Amino acid sequence: MNSKKYLLQESDIPTAWYNIVADMDVKPRPIINPATRQPLTAEDLFPLFSEEAARQEMNTVDPWITIPEPVRDMYRIWRPTPLVRAIGLERALDTPAKIFFKNESVSPVGSHKLNSAIPQAFYCKEQGVTNVTTETGAGQWGAALALACRSFGLDLAVYMVKISYNQKPYRRSIMQTYGAEVIASPSMSTKAGRKIITDHPNYQGSLGTAISEAVELAMSTPNCKYALGSVLNHVSLHQTVIGLEAEKQMAMADAYPDVVIACFGGGSNFSGIAYPFLRHNLKDGAKTRFIAAEPAACPKLTRGKFVYDFGDEAGYTPMIPMYSLGHDFAPANIHAGGLRYHGAGSVVSELRNQGLVDAVDIAQLEAFDAAVLFAKAEGIIPAPESSHAIAATIREAIRAKEESTSPTILFNLSGHGLIDMASYDRYLAGDLADYTVDEAVIEANTQSLTQVK
Ligand SMILES: *Cc1c(COP(=O)(O)O)cnc(C)c1O
Repeated sequence: MNSKKYLLQESDIPTAWYNIVADMDVKPRPIINPATRQPLTAEDLFPLFSEEAARQEMNTVDPWITIPEPVRDMYRIWRPTPLVRAIGLERALDTPAKIFFKNESVSPVGSHKLNSAIPQAFYCKEQGVTNVTTETGAGQWGAALALACRSFGLDLAVYMVKISYNQKPYRRSIMQTYGAEVIASPSMSTKAGRKIITDHPNYQGSLGTAISEAVELAMSTPNCKYALGSVLNHVSLHQTVIGLEAEKQMAMADAYPDVVIACFGGGSNFSGIAYPFLRHNLKDGAKTRFIAAEPAACPKLTRGKFVYDFGDEAGYTPMIPMYSLGHDFAPANIHAGGLRYHGAGSVVSELRNQGLVDAVDIAQLEAFDAAVLFAKAEGIIPAPESSHAIAATIREAIRAKEESTSPTILFNLSGHGLIDMASYDRYLAGDLADYTVDEAVIEANTQSLTQVK
């Protein structure tokens, strides 16, 4: 193995998050309030989110937003995270490419999600909120928010996508250990859940449905706010601590990435590692390529339409200008539960529209092949989600060998897979299948939506 680690000091934890929107010449299209058909304002979001999260969501002017000291204090539990030169993987692939990864799996909950859970819980607490509600797919976001809410003395209710609730029981136990209440979604406890169960009794749930349920609970419960683990601008903003640290660590290694890769669910870990480097493309003429690795079973950036769509299944959220497969798209039950979301956030969608970021889709078996190769070469068992980034990295490294180039590749290891071993069991038993999406399904799910011009 002999992989090399680059470590920072606690004092190197960033003091501000990077807001890329402030540096974009052409800003993302505004999010639309469906009731008024007007661009959404921060005030429109106050009933749902903490006021500071709502203000950050709408901030298009400040490139740097100060990280509150209590949040930085919590970051100290596991940040700064290591950057690793993956020499073991380079050898296994016999590639001339230099491969680095940022290891976000070292957080107490095993993924990058805690980077945003902590500030979101903090802003709720600061404002006197007592209850928080959210949804979770694979359970990573729920686990992160459960810990963050516990730390600030808030009560949390989590709607967990039913397929994951059954496939990943230990994530449920983790949330319950931190004191959160966990409900399988769709549930009979909300109008949105009851409607879906009535229409489709065997429905295994989706993030879109779980969001509808959580939003409904937040809107109908006094002193309760909703928190989202991906997709929105303020979530991506908080995740930029990943790329800001990685920038310093790449400098320690005397390197700069030609390619930056991350897996893509709603886009938060991708944005987190990409935007601090993308700022040098926007401002300083750097030429780094950015590749979002999404599952072939849920290919919003590679095959979705650029439309105004709802963030949730029931249509409670504002209309977001997003690359989307349609809010009622029901993805196959792949094991990368955290990547089963129908759309991409407005900022990354606009960046994609401008050709500033690329995307590839990865089939389930290719992702697990990559995961096992990586585990053997580097010792870390990756989350099924992160394995999509590893697979995309391996494609680039093999291409470098074929073309005799030696690019520097940086990918984000968004989480470890130690709580996903049931998925590995299925893979090792030869029990996993690939899924593709019919073009007709995408057309049917998006045809009634307005195209973004
Ligand atoms: C949630 C999750 C993802 C996908 O979410 P993004 O917002 O796209 O980053 C990826 N990897 C892990 C480990 C996750 O928990």
